[in-house]
Amino acid sequence: GPTIITMENEADLFYRQMPKVELHAHLNGSVSFSTIEKLMARKPHLNIEHNMTAILSGQKRTLDECFQVFKVIHQLIDTEEDILMVAKDVIREFAEDGVKYLELRTTPREDKNTGMTKRSYVQTVIEAIRQCKNEGLDIEVRLLVSVDRRHGVEVAMKTVKLAEDFMRSTDGFVVGLDLSGDPTVGHGGDLLPALQKAKNCGLKLSLHLSEVPSQVDESELLLNIPPDRIGHGTFLHPEVGGAQSLVDKVMKNNTPLGKNTFDFPFRSLDLVNNPGKFTAILGSDR
Ligand SMILES: [Zn+2]
Repeated sequence: GPTIITMENEADLFYRQMPKVELHAHLNGSVSFSTIEKLMARKPHLNIEHNMTAILSGQKRTLDECFQVFKVIHQLIDTEEDILMVAKDVIREFAEDGVKYLELRTTPREDKNTGMTKRSYVQTVIEAIRQCKNEGLDIEVRLLVSVDRRHGVEVAMKTVKLAEDFMRSTDGFVVGLDLSGDPTVGHGGDLLPALQKAKNCGLKLSLHLSEVPSQVDESELLLNIPPDRIGHGTFLHPEVGGAQSLVDKVMKNNTPLGKNTFDFPFRSLDLVNNPGKFTAILGSDR
């Protein structure tokens, strides 16, 4: 139908042009539909289902749908060429949205068929950051290497080593380690040695925790490290199944909370009884 110009469009423009920082962007969760279409055109043999296209193009997704989307995106990205295009598109689109400082996080992946390794994956994301910088995009980009909690401590240890190597070899492009992945799988406590190692070698830690209710023990262990940032933390508060001891730890360390593309009610803001003492970092919903 005809485009109706409303006050909302003006507001959208205002918010788009306003300079922003984006501190919670999962690379695969930030891929736009137009990039997905380019990937699908490269790989017609994959036959992405019609209902999946609906989810991919949708604005609001459940946690479950998010993980479905990640699965499809993983299928679509299996070479260094793909990852270079995706990362550059994502950075360019954040820049167009007025983001001046962007922290991307991504789990290194390998693909036996195409020869993509975890090392070449990270190398390629860094190459994308370099190319965008050289092309003069008005955005600073840093990278957090993600540990997928489902893969256990051995993989986590290797990921920490990878992150450490790149932190030392890439003039500060790699700044930290992220813990993410399906919160209902595995126990974060098993990963403590890897997370501690990362912290000791100077990587900043951003940990997804208390994303689902009743993970008090795990959150307790993770908060003891302590992390430099928390992803979500939706269920830290006792009223939603967390514990006062968790809230106390977060307050004591002044640990910033962040959210990302999942459209959860941001109940962690309930923690803010004293807003002056507490920093909430809200990622933009994309
Ligand atoms: Zn996240």
